[in-house]
Amino acid sequence: MANFNTHLNVAFMVSGTLSLTVYKAGLIDDSGFLVCVALGTIGGLLPDLDSDNSTPIKLGFNITSFIFAFGLVMHWRSELSLLALIALWLAGYGFMRYVVFSIFTNMTVHRGVIHSVPYMAIMGLGMTYVSYDILNLPLTASWFYGLFLFGGAMVHLALDELYSVNLSNMRMKRSSGTAMKFYQPKDKWWYLLLYTLLAILVYFAPPFDAFWQQLRDPAPWAQLKVGIVPELIKSLLR
Ligand SMILES: [Zn+2]
Repeated sequence: MANFNTHLNVAFMVSGTLSLTVYKAGLIDDSGFLVCVALGTIGGLLPDLDSDNSTPIKLGFNITSFIFAFGLVMHWRSELSLLALIALWLAGYGFMRYVVFSIFTNMTVHRGVIHSVPYMAIMGLGMTYVSYDILNLPLTASWFYGLFLFGGAMVHLALDELYSVNLSNMRMKRSSGTAMKFYQPKDKWWYLLLYTLLAILVYFAPPFDAFWQQLRDPAPWAQLKVGIVPELIKSLLR
């Protein structure tokens, strides 16, 4: 297993590079670029939520609950009265912090369920939902946010996989394929729950086709190609 700093650095580098790429292609704006880097980095730390170090976890829970409550208030800011908004704020925060996350904490008892591909796919899709349906952000940005969170988590699982191969050459055969988890027989009910939830989320997900069409549009990538080499170097080569 790779350590915290390795995860942090690699996730930051990978999400930074990819965010810059989609930013230079004109697919996300300035703030979208920053959010993608942040989400990719957070994603890179997410699978180890079940590690023993609990302070960053609690901090993460609090921040996420806060963002969720903030999103709710932003969504209904013009329709509701001040008192209703304060109530919504508190209720949203309490629900996330003490209901949703207590379920998560329960899951962490079953070590490994969080450290899996389907769990992270749920987190990524959840991010897209929050961004698109609650925060009312544009479709493209919403999908990128979800994908960056999920991508960061996949970088984490790949790193763990890589390290388990490198550090224990002798046990390579036995240990490979344990980090990139899709299913484990001992947690079959948890996985059933995860895949059911994932199926529901996929079914009701914000439209993916429009996002995909935009990714397949050659124009942004052509723009990227033009902007890949600094102008200075180009003028020197001439
Ligand atoms: Zn890990």
